Amino acid sequence: KNPVHVIGGGLAGSEAAWQIAEAGVPVVLHEMRPVRGTDAHKTEGLAELVCSNSFRSDDAETNAVGLLHAEMRLAGSLIMSAGDAHQVPAGGALAVDRDGFSDAVTAKIEAHPLITIVREEVPGLPPADWDQVIIATGPLTAPSLAQSIAEATGADALAFFDAIAPIVHFDTIDMNTAWFQSRYDKVGPGGTGKDYINCPMDKEQYLAFVQALLDGQKTEFKQWEGTPYFDGCLPIEVMAERGVETLRYGPMKPMGLTNVHNPSVKAYAVVQLRQDNALGTLYNMVGFQTKLKHAEQVRIFRTIPGLENAEFARLGGLHRNTYINSPTLLDPSLQLTSRPGLRFAGQITGCEGYVESAAIGLLAGRFAAAERLGQAPSLPPPTTAFGALLNHITGGHIVSDDEPGKRSFQPMNVNFGLFPPVEAPKVEGKRLRGKDKTVAKRRAITARALADCRAWLGPPVRAEAAE
Ligand code: FAD
Repeated sequence: KNPVHVIGGGLAGSEAAWQIAEAGVPVVLHEMRPVRGTDAHKTEGLAELVCSNSFRSDDAETNAVGLLHAEMRLAGSLIMSAGDAHQVPAGGALAVDRDGFSDAVTAKIEAHPLITIVREEVPGLPPADWDQVIIATGPLTAPSLAQSIAEATGADALAFFDAIAPIVHFDTIDMNTAWFQSRYDKVGPGGTGKDYINCPMDKEQYLAFVQALLDGQKTEFKQWEGTPYFDGCLPIEVMAERGVETLRYGPMKPMGLTNVHNPSVKAYAVVQLRQDNALGTLYNMVGFQTKLKHAEQVRIFRTIPGLENAEFARLGGLHRNTYINSPTLLDPSLQLTSRPGLRFAGQITGCEGYVESAAIGLLAGRFAAAERLGQAPSLPPPTTAFGALLNHITGGHIVSDDEPGKRSFQPMNVNFGLFPPVEAPKVEGKRLRGKDKTVAKRRAITARALADCRAWLGPPVRAEAAE
């Protein structure tokens, strides 16, 4: 059989190579380190963890990344088995000895009879005779390959920074204070004129908010990241530094909006949230990209009327990253629609995090192996963590109503807002409230996910058959 080529031996590429080889298909894994380094990697090991050594929560019942761990274990993940084998104590989290973990992944890949590792930089899009390829070159993709990807996908399709605005779970927004309305009731394509959630502020609240932004603790850019401020994407605290009124003339302008709860009083400033996923479970805070520390974001944004009890699916940030506009470029099996046989995996697809990157590598590997074996790729159900994350990347994405065509796809960790909602189960016929309700819903989502994931994967392969 012709090999599948995997470019990049990080979290996603190592997992993809493993899955392909375990399906009986030969793989060539191209990793540029140590021939060429990145700004963050320090070793030549495969699956190097460039920063924290944590895979985050391992709780598969009430945590979305814990659920993803469980699904990956069911799918025979190399990243999870090496992580489990090199665990270090970290409470409910799965943290690993980073060197032991990377050494274990490297040893397993090197020892696999169907995997060949080539230590070289792939300088551009792969040659046409590589008919099955996975690009998993990560947030620090080498510049010449990044350039080729930009040329192949269109200049606007590749981003080098993510300017992330926080995302809020809809069911934690107080709609007795906030209201639905598009500015000037404008109806865009497919819209209703009520596509935004608006949170009003009076003058006193606005001034206190601006001061909190100025005083809040920020994270610094790393030296190699530079300072990537560009028009339309300034962090809110930088806008606040430019003058007390700047935000009121920018993302917090109150024009064209009438508070349905109090129509006679004009808001002094308004924070808008825009629907972020097709399910309507997540809303992003429009124009609120920020370098404030995460705890500061939670503290300060909960002072916004209507967001007092907000739970955040993701907090804001601004980082060096490389990722493509996947919803417009990739089909549901992560394949570039303009070049069948070329797939993307890992953080470059617009997921965020070690585990998520590895999970997308796992899926891309299975899809590529299936094609090589003459089978149609089998997509995970949308109710699973695999499916929810895949759907964030390849579909289910909202284009804004009054800015048609505006790109708003941003990288994201797996979270419960990506799953089709469930009704909270009743206990002794009574509806649950507050935290009990949240936990019950999460348990219902994770139980459904694990059952559907098992059904998708089919019966486990018996040990002797796998020998
Ligand atoms: P990587 O793991 O980066 O793997 C990509 C591989 O491709 C690398 O080995 C690279 O050498 C290779 N490569 C690149 N270009 C080429 C080429 N042209 N030819 C051949 N090989 C190439 N996530 C977390 O969960 N926790 C964190 O603490 C965390 N910290 C981060 C800190 C930084 C500075 C960055 C940039 C990201 C961080 N992330 C973190 C995000 C992300 O989860 C990791 O970057 C993760 O490693 C992404 O996995 P990946 O497989 O997509 O990319």
